[in-house]
Amino acid sequence: MIDYQGHFESAIEALHVEKRYRVFADLERIAGRFPAAVWRNGEESREITVWCSNDYLGMGQHESVVSAMTSTVSALGSGAGGTRNISGTSHPLVELERELADLHGKEAALVFTSGFVSNEASISTIAKLLPDCLILSDELNHASMIEGVRKSGARKQIFRHNDVAHLEELLKAADRDRPKLVVFESVYSMDGDIAPIAEIVALAERYNAMTYIDEVHAVGMYGPRGGGIAEREGLSHRLDVIEGTLAKAFGVLGGYIAGTKAVIDAVRSYAPGFIFTTALPPALAAAATASIRHLKTSQVERDGQQRQAARAKAVFAEAGLPVMPSETHIVPLLVGDADLCKQASDHLLETHGIYIQPINYPTVPRGTERLRITPTPLHDDALIDTLREALVETFTAIGIPFVGERPALEARSAGFMPLVVSKAGG
Ligand SMILES: *Cc1c(COP(=O)(O)O)cnc(C)c1O
Repeated sequence: MIDYQGHFESAIEALHVEKRYRVFADLERIAGRFPAAVWRNGEESREITVWCSNDYLGMGQHESVVSAMTSTVSALGSGAGGTRNISGTSHPLVELERELADLHGKEAALVFTSGFVSNEASISTIAKLLPDCLILSDELNHASMIEGVRKSGARKQIFRHNDVAHLEELLKAADRDRPKLVVFESVYSMDGDIAPIAEIVALAERYNAMTYIDEVHAVGMYGPRGGGIAEREGLSHRLDVIEGTLAKAFGVLGGYIAGTKAVIDAVRSYAPGFIFTTALPPALAAAATASIRHLKTSQVERDGQQRQAARAKAVFAEAGLPVMPSETHIVPLLVGDADLCKQASDHLLETHGIYIQPINYPTVPRGTERLRITPTPLHDDALIDTLREALVETFTAIGIPFVGERPALEARSAGFMPLVVSKAGG
């Protein structure tokens, strides 16, 4: 007899042993009062502050987004009614794709039901349509990109994270006439570092390769119109495919790619992950369009996010908390141990009413487990100060080292250099 249940139970037990079994908090966000939320813990329910949301700019509760969603659902109903092949494309989706093409200065765009699906479907389809394609992939690419690479069946080579010299070595060694696809991200969301996009596109041009960039953690947040890091650096036109999500800074749901008419039409026509699944509902499309339009002209949210993220980093570093270096809005604190990371997260929630999900392997390498904090424009100075106090108490109570208290681990953890406390700058 086969012990089916036993196989599942032992898989779960392995996660418990490694102290990386994941528990999701039962939360209810409060529209109009983000980052406040209600946390339900059995019979108890209490108000807490969320510090790890990817609703980076609070657009999920923005008046224009909420009203676009509610008015569209009232007018057009809830669902899409089918795949686009079978049921046609809802008009709000047509408008959304125009808006996205414009955002990135591309000829066309194509919307998927999530960013994950957009990466998996687009990378695999693009690589399959290029004969004998060689994929060059950054070692820290997101799971959805890795799935796309794998599903393509194409040969792949991994280049060291953001290492253009290594990428050049691989490009140089490849046959000039062989199709090549370089896949990478702009903002890497666990460390908050940024790819050297200008150098990567220059290499791609020199060695005759195509580029595919994931701007999921940058769209809405960087560039004068929210077109991402590529827009900020004036590089959008030199990238072949730009991928993004509607679910993070734009505050809704869905993913997309933007590129030339030919690439977009080919993915539309060949990608099973696009063809054989129900389209995004019209209300979500309308809400996403409202969010993108708002962020094309409003700088207030972007400025607020940058200001609060910088303040959080400075305040935490001053308190001796091990802030990992980050060039962006992401504020990672090194814990370096899965069990301590989970304990810290539980303690913050139970004792301080602060929610920060532990980030453990395989999301980040073992030994670099961390608390990943994402300040938004709606996390004001008082909330940041409250969080600092809570973190200091928690690190002390749980026994997580402050800066300088674990030279061995700090030296071993890849890339870890604590921010230097600036006494002068405050
Ligand atoms: C979250 C994420 C995705 C997936 O986007 P969803 O819209 O959430 O499916 C893709 N790439 C990266 C880098 C991400 O962090």
